[in-house]
Amino acid sequence: MCNLLTSYPPSPLQPLQTPLLEEKGIRLLIKRDNLLQLDNKAVFCGNKWRKLKYNLLKATELSQNKLLTFGGAYSNHLAAVAQAGQLFDFQTIGIVRGEAHFPLNPTLRFCVDCGMELHYISRTEYHKKQESNFIFQLQQQFGDFYLLPEGGTNDLAMKGCREIVIEIEQQMDSLPDYIAVACGTGGTLAGIAAELNGRSQAIGFSVLKGMTNEVTPPTGGVASFITLQNDYHFGGYAKFTPELIRFINDFKTNHDLALDPIYTGKLFLVFLI
Ligand SMILES: *Cc1c(COP(=O)(O)O)cnc(C)c1O
Repeated sequence: MCNLLTSYPPSPLQPLQTPLLEEKGIRLLIKRDNLLQLDNKAVFCGNKWRKLKYNLLKATELSQNKLLTFGGAYSNHLAAVAQAGQLFDFQTIGIVRGEAHFPLNPTLRFCVDCGMELHYISRTEYHKKQESNFIFQLQQQFGDFYLLPEGGTNDLAMKGCREIVIEIEQQMDSLPDYIAVACGTGGTLAGIAAELNGRSQAIGFSVLKGMTNEVTPPTGGVASFITLQNDYHFGGYAKFTPELIRFINDFKTNHDLALDPIYTGKLFLVFLI
């Protein structure tokens, strides 16, 4: 079933035209990874698809039918794993940071509707999520599982994100001067930079406050080709301003493209002001 992931066509590259870009002589193309989706209510799409692709194939190869992962109560990664589990027949367990609140928020509601089993742990416990003792305890509790880290960022996720660059290079017959992405954990940026390997610049726009130290260091010494912009988070993760919301609405009207207020809205706004 996961084979669908390997045979899926590349997402399109779509040009964007605005007076400002024209005036500055900039050619801007949007890699429409949101169109990597298996239904139109997809949460399992975009970079979540890229990051989960090789992990799902690996879990299948290992005959592991249970996925376990971590996230906050508004984590899109949790929701993407839940939906991937539903689409590809994996049992899914979500370890959620903090206490349970009812009714569930829309993200966690979606997870449960996809069949994900949710377990809540305290913030203190959550900090231990990478310790082997803690993972061992989880195995005692839930049996054997395929572990996906918070945000889904691991080596196989990077492999999936490298394909963004491979596709762009094929589609353009060359590489652009810059590739820009919004960053949460920085895994997508790291994968892109690893594949670029210094041939173009990768720019990450952090949507978190002060994330500098959290970006996954890319392998192969390409760090100097990465720029991380830390002044465009609009107050922090999931924080927004009236200006940002107005921009997203105008962008939808002018370009018929829906940006989200957490990631792509902030990325496009900083580019186009
Ligand atoms: C999840 C998400 C990100 C964050 O990706 P990281 O690899 O964690 O940096 C960025 N943009 C969009 C649209 C996302 O859904």
